[in-house]
Amino acid sequence: MKVVDYKAELQNELQDLAQKNKKIGFVPTMGALHKGHISLIKKSVSENDITVVSVFVNPNQFNDKNDLKNYPRFIDKDVELIKNAGCDFVFTPSVKEIYPKEDNRIFDFGDLNKVMEGKQRNGHFNGVAQVVSKLFNIVKPDVAYFGRKDFQQYVIIKKMVKMLNMSIEIVDCPIVRETDGLAMSSRNLHLTDIQRNNSSLISKTLFKARNLTNKLSVKELKDWVVDAINENPFLDVEYFDIVDDLELKSISNWQENNNKVGCIAVKVGKIRLIDNVNFNL
Ligand code: AMP
Repeated sequence: MKVVDYKAELQNELQDLAQKNKKIGFVPTMGALHKGHISLIKKSVSENDITVVSVFVNPNQFNDKNDLKNYPRFIDKDVELIKNAGCDFVFTPSVKEIYPKEDNRIFDFGDLNKVMEGKQRNGHFNGVAQVVSKLFNIVKPDVAYFGRKDFQQYVIIKKMVKMLNMSIEIVDCPIVRETDGLAMSSRNLHLTDIQRNNSSLISKTLFKARNLTNKLSVKELKDWVVDAINENPFLDVEYFDIVDDLELKSISNWQENNNKVGCIAVKVGKIRLIDNVNFNL
């Protein structure tokens, strides 16, 4: 496996391989890797000739400068994990390499980035689109892998690829969870032991909620989830919504003919955790 810091070097290597008709899979990450990330890398390795993983903490997607400063960074450990997963190239660019000059592009995703995470984190998805579009232009993958853990991000990246006429297949991968159900996240590292233990209530409540769709209306079920989690003194729900998986519009009844996803954000002290489950009946 090669570790590459410069886009020109990576492009040289990949151009040769693309000319030989090698299928290139790509997994963008911000590092601090866990089994969730590794599952994406392994999927790419099993489905492509060549896998590229990027590790880049993208300043443009952080609306909270403290969050950026405190974002966990373990590059040596990450490189070891990526190598063990069978990857071929790790791209570890500097901020200057990705943004030699300021990126002022504004993406119009319609309502997709005005709801849920987009509403809570102003400019976040625009920053995500800036970096992912740049990385796509450098790597030129055939396929790129995204976790359903960040469900809204996955939907927005699919839209971005369409808007920019990029011929890249976007593949979604299931959420990898800890044994007690908590969705794996680099942010879990910041939780104290007691916060960590109480956080498992988030996924437990979402799983229980899936069994209540024949007893409660959409509105009643949403209230039930929020109340059940907020009863815990360590947890504070920012939002919970059940949306369709294409337009991310709130659904109003269970009979609607679309795929439904229940998305939640919860504050645990200063840490924000997100999770989601399918509500397909
Ligand atoms: P990040 O490093 O947080 O930007 O995440 C990189 C990729 O890993 C994104 O596509 C995430 O959705 C995905 N990811 C993060 N956590 C998980 C998880 N627990 N299960 C599956 N995918 C995940």
